[in-house]
Amino acid sequence: MERLSWDQYFMAQSHLLALRSTCPRLAVGATIVRSNRIIAGGYNGSISGGEHCTDAGCYVVDNHCIRTIHAEMNALLQCAKFGVSTEGAEMYVTHFPCVHCTKSIIQSGIKKVSYAKDYHNHPYAEELFQDAGIQTEKVILEEGVLDIKNEEKLSFTSELLQRLEQAGVSSEEMKKLHERANQLFTNA
Ligand SMILES: [Zn+2]
Ligand SMILES: [Zn+2]
Repeated sequence: MERLSWDQYFMAQSHLLALRSTCPRLAVGATIVRSNRIIAGGYNGSISGGEHCTDAGCYVVDNHCIRTIHAEMNALLQCAKFGVSTEGAEMYVTHFPCVHCTKSIIQSGIKKVSYAKDYHNHPYAEELFQDAGIQTEKVILEEGVLDIKNEEKLSFTSELLQRLEQAGVSSEEMKKLHERANQLFTNA
């Protein structure tokens, strides 16, 4: 059994948090880490006790949902609420941060941001990170990290595909099935 790396563990945590998002426009999760310890986490959602976009619909102004607090902000605000220092900490976030979150991340003393997906990366956000000397690194969640039966499913799927080919399914159809399987088992 291969041991899960810290990067994968923290990124998996952010992907789990994203599943708690209440704004259907984008599911984002963010985890703040200090000395390899998780000190806070956040997801895209309304203020505590407020109406959720999933129940009341989004409150869209200028093409942005203003009901939600972004995952990165929620994680930072959790630290503010409970008096936990973010100086020198790292953030793992599922999507590249927006300009507003970027400024807050820099201002709170975060020294490194790992993100899984590029998301309308604003050149100004990239510039701000660079000027502040904050390292940004793409950390893609590896296949199967959040699925303990991934390997079994993979071998079962490839066996099924083999049997289908033997059963005389056309090569054109087989190609489509292979492509679909590849999509399911990779994060591409
Ligand atoms: Zn919303
Ligand atoms: Zn943001």
